[in-house]
Amino acid sequence: MTNYLYDGVFAPHADSRKTFLYTADGEISFADFTALTDRIASLLVATGMAPGDRVAVQADKSVMLFALYAATVKAGGVYLPLNTGYTAAELDYFLGDAKPRIVVVSGKAEAAIAPIAERIGAALMTLDADESGSLRDAAMAHEGPFAAVPRGSEDLAAILYTSGTTGRSKGAKLCHRNLRSNAEVLRDYWRFTPDDVLLHMLPIYHTHGLFVASNLLALVGGSMIFLPKYAADVALEWMPKATTMMGVPTFYTRLLDHDGFTREASAHMRLFISGSAPLLAETHRQFEARTGKAILERYGMTETNMSTSNPFDGDRRAGTVGFALPGVDIRIADPQTGAPLPDGEIGIIEQRGDNVFLGYWEMPEKTAESFRDDGFFITGDMAVRDADGYISIVGRDKDLIISGGLNVYPKEVEGMIDAVEGVLESAVIGVPHRDFGEAVVAVIVRSDDALAAETVEAALADQLAKFKQPKAILFTDALPRNSMGKVQKAELRKAHDGLFS
Ligand code: AMP
Repeated sequence: MTNYLYDGVFAPHADSRKTFLYTADGEISFADFTALTDRIASLLVATGMAPGDRVAVQADKSVMLFALYAATVKAGGVYLPLNTGYTAAELDYFLGDAKPRIVVVSGKAEAAIAPIAERIGAALMTLDADESGSLRDAAMAHEGPFAAVPRGSEDLAAILYTSGTTGRSKGAKLCHRNLRSNAEVLRDYWRFTPDDVLLHMLPIYHTHGLFVASNLLALVGGSMIFLPKYAADVALEWMPKATTMMGVPTFYTRLLDHDGFTREASAHMRLFISGSAPLLAETHRQFEARTGKAILERYGMTETNMSTSNPFDGDRRAGTVGFALPGVDIRIADPQTGAPLPDGEIGIIEQRGDNVFLGYWEMPEKTAESFRDDGFFITGDMAVRDADGYISIVGRDKDLIISGGLNVYPKEVEGMIDAVEGVLESAVIGVPHRDFGEAVVAVIVRSDDALAAETVEAALADQLAKFKQPKAILFTDALPRNSMGKVQKAELRKAHDGLFS
């Protein structure tokens, strides 16, 4: 038996002298990366990690951190990256839940995490942004080559905790097949080749930066410009060397805000990909007007990897996430019964395929609730498919507003508000209301401070049914977003909970 993920994704180019990673400090070839991976893999095994053991990691992005992921997989372990924003109290829950054999944190977190690691019997190591720390010191005492530990397609490769906007965060179990198959599908769909150089400015604790971007470029033997975080001016400096970029929508709005972002500045780029949060149709249009290139929007989630994408060759339609990827079965279903709905009707996205995770870590009931009897995963994303087959996401099921017993999809109202002159963006939420159960409330960020609530009301008056029109319009300087650019509607709902009481 081989190591299904490592041998499929990392091994084909392992010995190549070609540059795999460009950083601000220099270049790392595939062979350098493999040598680093092998040292770390030897260390993990010497520390007592057995196949199937978890390696939990909260550390700043670096080449060594990326190699720790490859090493964990190669040594047969299960990689468990944690958002760098989590506090020690939050880590207490994740570590207690996942019971890793090894924990890696930054030097400054060591003291707070040490008692937790001791309680669960895990070895603790440190890794800082500059790659210093006990992980490096110990790994350098080991020599390669390291023979990959055999793992099958159904074995666990990673656990990623979902952002958990309601209730406890759940650990999504991803197997070797989930990750490798998705990288192979994306290579073909988006035409990635060894000539590609991806501008990588995403975090690597999330599916987007870790799997979508990194697995794909490793698989094809391309290169990545591997930078710690996003900044539009840094993106512009590197762009002449890159061929592609993957970003969350804010990457693109910030580029558009930058005067230096011109048609010439992006001339070397063959493909811009967006996902993880909805890209405004307006951003898509402005981007195309500025560069002559249409952003390719795709949709996926931690549990399902990538599921839909706009086409590479055909029309990349603003405001849509395109079609189901090859090998992904998608239906837009009645939320109650799971029965497929006709095109044009809003329902819940359900999917089945090699991309879909195995279930939630030690939560058999949650797992059972999340799958239909025929194996389809209930995503919680509401969407509609048009007559041409393009899918548009209209929001999360829990963001659906029920006002006076009638369903209001926030996206529809937001789309109309965003079209009003003087509006930069908006979020529409449901707020408890004595008469209506929930009342529609719009929170707006203005691009023109003179814009009045009455102007927005007047613009919606003859466009939207009365029950969909906001009962209150509030202005704010910025919408609350998480690190992947998703608007935090739960936070907004909490902030305005008492508006009508
Ligand atoms: P995560 O598990 O953090 O990757 O979040 C997945 C969620 O992000 C999905 O369930 C969607 O609600 C949302 N999402 C991802 N891509 C898109 C997109 N292109 N448009 C709208 N929502 C998206």
